[in-house]
Amino acid sequence: MKKYLFVMLCCCASLARAQVPDKEFIDIYRELIEIDTAQPEANTTPAAQAMAKRLLDAGFDPRDVEIAGPAPDRQNLIARLRGAGEGKPILLLAHIDVVAAHKEDWTGGLDPFKLTERDGYYYARGSIDDKAMASIFVANMIRMKREGFRPKRDIVLALTADEESGNRNGVEWLIRNRRDAIDAQVALNEGAGGSWRHGKPFIQGVQVAEKVYHTFDFELTGPGGHSSVPGRDNVIYDMAAALSRLSELQLPAHVDDAAKRFFAAVAPTETGSLAAALEAVARGEYTDAQLKELSASPRLNAQLRTTCVATRIEGGHADNALPQRVHATVNCRIFPGEKSSFVEAELKRVAGDRIRVRPRGEEHPSGPMDINSPFMKTIERVSETMWPGTPVVPIMGTGATDGAKLRNAGIPVYGVSGIFLEYGENRLHGQDERVPVKSLLDSREFLYRLARALAS
Ligand SMILES: [Zn+2]
Repeated sequence: MKKYLFVMLCCCASLARAQVPDKEFIDIYRELIEIDTAQPEANTTPAAQAMAKRLLDAGFDPRDVEIAGPAPDRQNLIARLRGAGEGKPILLLAHIDVVAAHKEDWTGGLDPFKLTERDGYYYARGSIDDKAMASIFVANMIRMKREGFRPKRDIVLALTADEESGNRNGVEWLIRNRRDAIDAQVALNEGAGGSWRHGKPFIQGVQVAEKVYHTFDFELTGPGGHSSVPGRDNVIYDMAAALSRLSELQLPAHVDDAAKRFFAAVAPTETGSLAAALEAVARGEYTDAQLKELSASPRLNAQLRTTCVATRIEGGHADNALPQRVHATVNCRIFPGEKSSFVEAELKRVAGDRIRVRPRGEEHPSGPMDINSPFMKTIERVSETMWPGTPVVPIMGTGATDGAKLRNAGIPVYGVSGIFLEYGENRLHGQDERVPVKSLLDSREFLYRLARALAS
């Protein structure tokens, strides 16, 4: 049955791929990349309009292609491939703003806003984040349209503004103003990709949860006075002592099923006692010493627990006066499911009685996803057709994407691009952002099969 299914998928895929030749897809990709949507200006409207035109030219009904947003320069695109109306739609989500990039910072004469093909890679700002998925989704919508594919569920595409920064976030705006247009059973988004080691695929990452971004203000005031007669009382010293205690704070580790699968998958990338510790945690039979060893790695530590770190400090008002006020910013990334009230209580304990600790703004909790859901099983099955034997690994994002906003609005989100990069390579937001040409084209096929499978 499995073999038969695989053959069937391959046949219809290769047949249908001709519906949008690679050249046409790369044209779409290039067009989207070369429309400058870099923050902070980040005018997404021309990009949304260009992609709308592509869909309309491919035969989408104008009633199913909509440009909407809070401001003339912050428009989003929403498009719908009509299905048989069985069940809620699936949502394909990608942001079309990008992080700023300056030609003088890039090497080899690369222009971040011109798509350059070199040595098997495409270089450009947004070549991955997130114009790869955005243009793939557009091309795949066109492909399904040309094939006359009628899914059970509608397939909705949303290309959105202000994910990277800015305060007119497209997803937030759509949830608040056009919930009906984007409501879905499940959404696919950025957040994780695949990894190669020595040219072979070895992990397919799926972002299933995200840490919650939450900032706390530490504030301490005192009487001050003349700096020529200092006493023991000094708010800068007291704050420094509190932050020093904070640097030692280690919140509880959470070794849940997703973490176990993640550690099992990364164990082969390490050697010696670290590899043994990863395997032990993956089995759920670890010692305190092994947990301590993993926690010494910032990357692994961030996967295990909530982290809180001092990121800014200011205080004092004159070179010759005792300080009257000190303020520190403490940025936490809260483990999904952990209560911010617990984190706040821990920070207050560490800060001591005199320092006032206050959360900044309200927190937006983000619960973990079900890693055994039918959606996850579908991702695993489709991934197997593309990269046989490559384990699908749930990943918790330590940063933040728009996925959390949808999850908080009750729409499950899986972050999976299927874009494979060499293990450890990460140029997103940095200089010389690039994607292997083969990875981009494979991802396009993977996301096509996945959208079809989820909508069927
Ligand atoms: Zn992104």
